[in-house]
Amino acid sequence: MIDLNSYLNVVNKKVIEKNVDEAFNNQISKNALIIDIREPDEINSGSPTNAIRISKGMLEMQIGQIVSNPEIELFIMCAAGKRSLIASYSLIQMGYKNVFSVKGGFNAWKNKSLPFEIPKKLNSEDFERYKRNILVPEVGEKGQLKLLNSKILIVGAGGIGSPVALYLAATGIGTLGIIDDDIVDKTNLQRQILHSEKSVGKSKVMSAKKRISELNSQINVIEYNKRITKENIEIIISNYDIVIDGTDNFNTRYLINDACVKLKIPNIHGSVFLFEGQFTTFWPSSKVEDAPCYRCLYPLPPPPEIAPSCAEAGVLGVLPGLIGVLCATEAIKIILGLENMVGKLMVYNALSMDFETYKVENNKNCEYCGCQGTEKYPEYSDYSESCTI
Ligand SMILES: [Zn+2]
Repeated sequence: MIDLNSYLNVVNKKVIEKNVDEAFNNQISKNALIIDIREPDEINSGSPTNAIRISKGMLEMQIGQIVSNPEIELFIMCAAGKRSLIASYSLIQMGYKNVFSVKGGFNAWKNKSLPFEIPKKLNSEDFERYKRNILVPEVGEKGQLKLLNSKILIVGAGGIGSPVALYLAATGIGTLGIIDDDIVDKTNLQRQILHSEKSVGKSKVMSAKKRISELNSQINVIEYNKRITKENIEIIISNYDIVIDGTDNFNTRYLINDACVKLKIPNIHGSVFLFEGQFTTFWPSSKVEDAPCYRCLYPLPPPPEIAPSCAEAGVLGVLPGLIGVLCATEAIKIILGLENMVGKLMVYNALSMDFETYKVENNKNCEYCGCQGTEKYPEYSDYSESCTI
C-alpha cells in the first residue's frame, strides 16, 4: 500500500506545475483554459473569472464534452495545488498533451489579486419566476444563469428602448444599463411604454428604472442620465455584453457603431419611420463571414436637408414596440449562443404586414471593418445633429 505523499511524489515527476501568473497570462493571450476542480461549496466563495468548473469527481466523465482538442493548454486548479496534481496526471493519461497543475491553487490566485468571480446560482425563487424560460430546451437552467449574469446597454429609453427594457427585465437579464438625457414629454406616451402620465416632466432614465424595478426588482438597473459622447462611450459600453441602439440620431448611431466595432461588442440596431421598421445586428468580429457594420451599409450620414426630422415625422405608436421586441429577442438569443441576425437585415411593413429579410455583407473598403486586426481605428467622427426621437 502506497501513502499519499509517496503517490504525490510519483505524480509530481509526471506533471508540470506552473504558477498562477502564467495560468492567467495564457488564459488571456493564448486562450488556455483554467479548469477549477474544487467542490461546489468551495467555488461558492469565488473562482477565477471565466474558469471552467468541473469538480474532481466528475472530471474524467465531463472533460471530453468541453475540451475536444487534446493540444489546448489546460491549467488545472484546486485550493492549494495538491488535488490538481492528481487530476492533471489523470488528464495526461487520458491523452491531453498540455496539462499543467497550478501551483498554490486558488489560494495563490487570490493572494496575487488576480480576477475572480462569485458564480451566481439559481435559487428556488428564480426557478419559479423563470420556469417558462427554463422549460425551453434551448434555455434550460444553464441558459437562465447566462441571462442572469449578462449585461445589456440600451441606448435611448424611447419607443424602441421601452419594450426592449421591459422584456429584458422580465426575462431576467441581470444588469440593464439605460442611457438617455431626455425628460418624459406627453407626446412620448403614444409609444414609449416605459413611461406613464405621472412621469411627464421627469427624467426618462429615472422613470425607466422605477418601472423596471416594479416589474422585476432583481434586476440591477444602471442609469446614465446623459448623452453618449465620443469621450464617454468606451468607458460606458466596455462594461456590457451587448449594446442595443434604439436611437434615431445619426450622430449617436455612428458613434455606437464605431465604438462597438472597436471593442468587438454586438450592436443590435432598430429603427422606424412611418409604417416601416427595420432591424439587424452589426457584429463584424462575430463568427459570421463578411458580417457588416453600420458604416458598411451607410458610410456617411445623409445631408441634414434630406434626413427626416423626427420631431416632425410621424410614427405609428405600435411600430417601435414591434421592432423593440425583435431587438430584445435577438439579444436573448445572442446571450444564449443561438442563431442571430448578423449579416441579415429585416424590414417590416406595418401596412402590408410583410417581413422581408435581406442578406447584407461587409464593404471591403469600410474604414472601420477594414481596421479589424490592425487595431488602428479612425478617431470618432463628430457629425452635427441630424435628428433625435
Ligand atoms: Zn464596416
